[in-house]
Amino acid sequence: MSAESKKAHNFIENLIEDAIAKGDHTGQVVTRFPPEPNGYLHVGHAKSICLNFGIAQRFGGICNLRFDDTNPEKENQEYIDAIKRDVEWLGYTWNGDVRYASDYFDALYYFAEELIMRDKAYVCALSAEEMTEYRGTLTEPGKNSPYRERPTDESLRLFRDMREGKFDDGELVLRAKIDMASPNMNMRDPILYRIRYAEHHQTGDRWCIYPMYDFTHPISDAMEGITHSLCTLEFEDHRPLYEWVLENITAPCEPRQIEFARLNLNYTITSKRKLKRLVDEHVVEGWDDPRMPTISGMRRRGYTPESLRTFCDMIGVNKAGGVVDMGMLEFAIREDLNTRAPRAMCVMRPLKVTLTNYPADKTETLELPVHPQNPDMGQREVTWSQTLYIDREDFAEEPPRKWKRLAPDKAVRLRGGYVMTCKEVVRDASGEIIELRCEYDPATLGVNPEGYKPNGVIHWVSASHSVECDINQYDRLFSEEFPDSDREADFLDHVNPESLVVLRGARVEQNLADPMTELPYQFEREGYFFCDQELTAQAGKPVFNRTVTLRDSWGK
Ligand code: ATP
Ligand code: MG
Repeated sequence: MSAESKKAHNFIENLIEDAIAKGDHTGQVVTRFPPEPNGYLHVGHAKSICLNFGIAQRFGGICNLRFDDTNPEKENQEYIDAIKRDVEWLGYTWNGDVRYASDYFDALYYFAEELIMRDKAYVCALSAEEMTEYRGTLTEPGKNSPYRERPTDESLRLFRDMREGKFDDGELVLRAKIDMASPNMNMRDPILYRIRYAEHHQTGDRWCIYPMYDFTHPISDAMEGITHSLCTLEFEDHRPLYEWVLENITAPCEPRQIEFARLNLNYTITSKRKLKRLVDEHVVEGWDDPRMPTISGMRRRGYTPESLRTFCDMIGVNKAGGVVDMGMLEFAIREDLNTRAPRAMCVMRPLKVTLTNYPADKTETLELPVHPQNPDMGQREVTWSQTLYIDREDFAEEPPRKWKRLAPDKAVRLRGGYVMTCKEVVRDASGEIIELRCEYDPATLGVNPEGYKPNGVIHWVSASHSVECDINQYDRLFSEEFPDSDREADFLDHVNPESLVVLRGARVEQNLADPMTELPYQFEREGYFFCDQELTAQAGKPVFNRTVTLRDSWGK
């Protein structure tokens, strides 16, 4: 049994299992992940990907990747490429070639003519405003379009003329003939096709009519032999239409639509349209800005595919909507990195320390574990010398009570090295502390000092055995828990002004002069940090993105 199939079942897996047991489902389970290429994938899509591919894995079935590409104006190849990369990075392999709803434009057209010939669809010339007026409201039935009883052959001729480009954008539409009095608004003669003179990224200028989502989706599913068409709850009211389409055409098969709750995460946004505004209005640097809840942003920040899959397992799949706490996502990445990330020391705000009793020309090589709980990861060498750096925040001239770091005449241990005592504070003309002069205790390497107790353990680097680096300290993108539910303000007003704090001139141990790019490091006492390849190449020195802090300190 693979690790994947040991996970707890969700309600959809239970349904499938029951159907198999009762003999209602025979043959392979076929699912699909159907993104619209109008933006980059976000953490909500990760839930859908894990669900669709996960079900295929569990039942020995297959999962297709299909681009739902019926809105050519909003879609493009960049998004297609990014989506493929993200699905692969998450660790999934789609069945066969990538598919496109546009692969089925001929079939969709054929089925549309079929509906017309069966008197189940008609060409309508109402304007958009008239259409709204005729549609009725939730409490009032709609009115039949005056074009509803147009003879079949007339609709057929007009539909063919629409395809031939004999009409303008929006002049005519093809509508299903269902029921203008249906309590379900989606069933009030929904539009199936509209005219759009738009170049399509896959089909070029072959078409000037494009099918609507509600017509395209069931037919695409049927064309691919999908058995379970999983979608989010907002499509529940569309299910009768999904079924109506398949019942009224000579569909090759009848997939079952099952809805589940979409993932909502606090302190962020999971809507491509809104994420696009953050990009277009330059609030962030791009779709893969490490603050974005996009898969590419999280990847660049240092999230691992394992942590995202674990997160999706943790949140489960159900019908009840709700909000998941960002802390859970952070927990998943912390857990993963805690067990795997190599340790290193990085001094974020360097303060010079001179060991007055250590020879200027001497150095020592200290051995520190790469991972304290995992000896298999080996040892690393760190050099000790007369001039060191510690973090400014680890020194207090007038320490508060219970201070566990360095202070005048107090001793601390430098991680993996010796104990030192601060003897003198050196200032520049403006009064700023620029150096600490300390004495190290030569008898304390790996052993406790005699007769006194150090105040704590701090991290450090040797001045001439460390390299300069920059640190992007990322935090949550929004400072409000529900940035887009404020009716008074635009969600952009709630962007956290400290979502990115850049620290320049940090110092990291020499081992990281050429940092690895597979996994973040744990910088001791600071958090997890991932090398940004692009920024490192630009800066000519390592640039690290903070993935997450060591502990959940949000709002504390
Ligand atoms: P958005 O509102 O962000 O544009 P969408 O639903 O329009 O999302 P699609 O590209 O159509 O985006 O989504 C592809 C698949 O991912 C769909 O099956 C959709 O239901 C699912 N999905 C999208 N957002 C979420 C979410 N937040 N949680 C779970 N599944 C989601
Ligand atoms: Mg969509």
